Amino acid sequence: MTKELLLCFLAGVVLPLALAAVFQELPPPAQPESSSVSTAPQAAADADSQVTLAVKKQDGTSETMPLQDYLVGVVLAEMPAGFEPEALKAQAVVARTYTQKRMEGSKHEEADVCTDPGCCQGFQSPGDYVSAGGTEASVEKVRQAVLETDALVLQYNGRLIDATYFSCSGGTTEDAVAVWGRDVPYLQSVESPGEEEAPRFTDTVRFSPAQFAEKLGLIPSGDPVGWFGAVTYTEGGGVDTMVILGKSFTGTYLRAKLGLRSTAFTVSVEDGAIVITTRGFGHRVGMSQYGAQAMALEGHSFEEILAHYYTGAELTREAYYGN
Ligand SMILES: [Zn+2]
Repeated sequence: MTKELLLCFLAGVVLPLALAAVFQELPPPAQPESSSVSTAPQAAADADSQVTLAVKKQDGTSETMPLQDYLVGVVLAEMPAGFEPEALKAQAVVARTYTQKRMEGSKHEEADVCTDPGCCQGFQSPGDYVSAGGTEASVEKVRQAVLETDALVLQYNGRLIDATYFSCSGGTTEDAVAVWGRDVPYLQSVESPGEEEAPRFTDTVRFSPAQFAEKLGLIPSGDPVGWFGAVTYTEGGGVDTMVILGKSFTGTYLRAKLGLRSTAFTVSVEDGAIVITTRGFGHRVGMSQYGAQAMALEGHSFEEILAHYYTGAELTREAYYGN
């Protein structure tokens, strides 16, 4: 662990990560698990269109739609359509996995999922996407990503995984345990190179000492240079704990209270102001969307992208479509 006063964080559990959810029991796979990725198409090439789900919209009404259409809307909302096809396919698999897990145990009484990205996943219908300035070609590109990954989901030990994802890691993803306090074997810290082009790779925010202290419920005292004490780091390079004015805070708490883009941050005092520089954007657990794009640009397949970010997870079509 580095010792400098720089760290990374993540606050607001902005993304729909249902890590608190109990794993749902799923029907056993039809075949023994294999460590290899099996993506051989099955007879039904559009199994996603045979499944329907209830989607609760922002206005409170619910709409029943085919899973295939829902996934196109999720990918349109959650990832830039200009990304490489393999990155879009990885996103489609992750969105499908997340959705099917919610269909087994929804947070909502009258719907399987909602369209609030802070609760479940974002959603933008193709019509709304085009009205907002998107192109039909982009919609078609996203639809292809959904069709070409039809029915594929990620499992671990025969169960759907919590397929968490986020925008940008800043170079390293985070262990689930560092953010949510629970170890998840397939959500481990991994390198995520090539994200430097992401618009949110780094971010800097400045606070006056009085502002900073108030946000943390501290009483300012003396030169802020002396406020910062020992720091510990998580496996993924985020701030685990930091002592400020003699009090220990967790990185996740600091991220939330200070409104930081991640828990991977560094602190400095410049001209009397407290300056915090974050790298990455999001909780940094699971798949980095910009990291997926970087891998795709290097020629990696969506299978390789998913295998990289979800350690030991298996890609399968056998979870749901046997009936
Ligand atoms: Zn929801």
